[in-house]
Amino acid sequence: MDEKKIMEELMLLKREVENLKEEKKSITPHKHCLNCGIAIPPDKTFCSKKCEEQWNAMLKKKKINLYVWMAFMAILIVLLFVGMGGGL
Ligand SMILES: [Zn+2]
Repeated sequence: MDEKKIMEELMLLKREVENLKEEKKSITPHKHCLNCGIAIPPDKTFCSKKCEEQWNAMLKKKKINLYVWMAFMAILIVLLFVGMGGGL
């Protein structure tokens, strides 16, 4: 390999790196769908209506689970207090 060829190759590599940088720049402003994680425009939260519905359904389920858990804890505490009151 002579010097000229090496320089040429280096230039090509440099251009490739620059292209990659440009590509990165053009991809950077984006978000990920909260439900499935694919890239979406930054002004959106979900990639599709379906994902939004799925996410909301999941949140609802989580909320219900939390309420059930809280109710369970409240009953447990009440029972504990009632039990202690009866013991005295
Ligand atoms: Zn999605």
